[in-house]
Amino acid sequence: MTKDESNCPFCDPDPSRVVAQSELAVALRDGYPVSEGHTLIVPRRHVSDWFDATDEERTEIFKLVDECKQLLKTTSS
Ligand SMILES: [Zn+2]
Repeated sequence: MTKDESNCPFCDPDPSRVVAQSELAVALRDGYPVSEGHTLIVPRRHVSDWFDATDEERTEIFKLVDECKQLLKTTSS
């Protein structure tokens, strides 16, 4: 674990912020949303950027994007 990872805000998120999750990725409500319903979807593994994520991780991230979209459609007017 590097210095950065030890205080990583995504490794141990407040359960109330978890919107949806899967084996490889997790969707979190933004603590400081730039817009209403702003949601962060991150892989559970530490990756430096999108291109460092595996195909499986990318697939799960997109699945969570769809899931969150559905959730937002039903919870915001
Ligand atoms: Zn982390």
